[in-house]
Amino acid sequence: MARPGGTVVTAAGLCRGLDTLFAVPSEHRLDDVDRASARQLLGCDDRTLSILLDRGLPAGGDPGEERFDSRDLFNLALHSGTGTTVPEQAFAYSLRWMRSATEDLLAPRASRFALRVACGAEACGPAPTSMLALPRPERCGGAVHDLTVEPAWGVAAPSGDTVVCTGSELAVTATVHTRGERAELRSPELRAIVAEFAAMDLRWVKLPEALRDDVDLVARHGVASCDSASRYLAQLCLRAGIPAVTRIGWVVGMLDLVHAWVEVEDADGATKVVDPVFALFSATVRDTNPLLRDPAVALRTNRLIPTGLSTGGVVAEHRCAGEPAAARVTTKILPAPTRPEERP
Ligand SMILES: [Zn+2]
Repeated sequence: MARPGGTVVTAAGLCRGLDTLFAVPSEHRLDDVDRASARQLLGCDDRTLSILLDRGLPAGGDPGEERFDSRDLFNLALHSGTGTTVPEQAFAYSLRWMRSATEDLLAPRASRFALRVACGAEACGPAPTSMLALPRPERCGGAVHDLTVEPAWGVAAPSGDTVVCTGSELAVTATVHTRGERAELRSPELRAIVAEFAAMDLRWVKLPEALRDDVDLVARHGVASCDSASRYLAQLCLRAGIPAVTRIGWVVGMLDLVHAWVEVEDADGATKVVDPVFALFSATVRDTNPLLRDPAVALRTNRLIPTGLSTGGVVAEHRCAGEPAAARVTTKILPAPTRPEERP
């Protein structure tokens, strides 16, 4: 939708965004987007795109036929501050739950959970195996009911964290019950670390897979994925002698996003969730619940579905011909009706 002055506002925002863009390093570049798709993603006209190129937006290919890295464009748009680009609007939409009242973030919640992995190749290679992580909401006061594994010969690991089968696909469905918790952070050192982390004013960005765990990028460039932000925060805790582990899992309402956060042991002996990235996100959406970025509060929302795995782990994997293979992963997490007797 055209607004008076919209083009100018967008151009100015994108130019500002470009000044602080962490460009995907050349060895990881994909150059997977052409000019037409780039204009669409950035919500700009061709002239603005040329201005961005003149100002150093990285691109390959010949003049006029440039190719861009989709992650550069996404990050540039997300941090442009225009509010009109596709990534900004998608983010605002998928994070609108952050405006919820505290009791809604804490109330018991039931979700139908379906996770599937399948070989991405046209023909699966020899000796195929497929692996999925299982939801482990019982780690934080929740429960799993009606767990089904297909094919039925899928076997859960002794840890209960994953299920594995021979074959080119594997699916898990379950009803997952979660509940939130609001806890004060007791340890003054821990509060100081969380406040210090918030003051770094990091930017969450899409990164190539090889850089998602890269803690150096956090310290040196101020950019982080959920994984690297969580690793960085856990490191700060561990250096201060505070037990901390990273955790990966899913967020209800944010499909296909595998999220990461930190579980710390506070001075009162309780394990508490500190979510460094939700704190960053909540600053980008208007009217979010202030508890999400209160450094004195550990807010575990009822939308978190933990696995038993840490950052570096994967929630879905397929192997064939003796190697990890490209896999199609689908994740569906939808509201489920609760029966009183099912509540944990
Ligand atoms: Zn395969």
